[in-house]
Amino acid sequence: MSCIFCRIANKEINSSIVHESGAVIAFDDIAPQAPVHVVIIPKKHILDVSGLNEALDDIFSAVDKVAGIKGVRDSGFRVVMNKGKDAGQAVDHLHFHLLGGRPLKWPPG
Ligand code: AMP
Ligand code: ZN
Repeated sequence: MSCIFCRIANKEINSSIVHESGAVIAFDDIAPQAPVHVVIIPKKHILDVSGLNEALDDIFSAVDKVAGIKGVRDSGFRVVMNKGKDAGQAVDHLHFHLLGGRPLKWPPG
């Protein structure tokens, strides 16, 4: 299987796992853009936002859990999903970035 996030979900590749529930796994981003930068993915290979419906509940439960675990629930955080070329989507397995731990500029670049 070549999808890197599927391999992380299957524990074929090591990652720093922050949270795991039945359908979702969350791990520290390997190239963090903020003091807290966690990638949240459905374990099932869903390509992008077009397949989102079935994973939505589990993902946003995980967002709240990860924010608590990382201590940014009160200070604030941002959840980002990059879709396609213009947004710089690099991995074709649906994922959300949770960023926090510093003031985040708006609008994003
Ligand atoms: P995107 O540009 O939205 O597709 O984001 C993909 C993210 O996955 C990037 O922020 C990468 O740093 C991150 N990433 C890629 N490979 C790994 C890995 N093996 N472990 C953790 N994060 C990764
Ligand atoms: Zn995948």
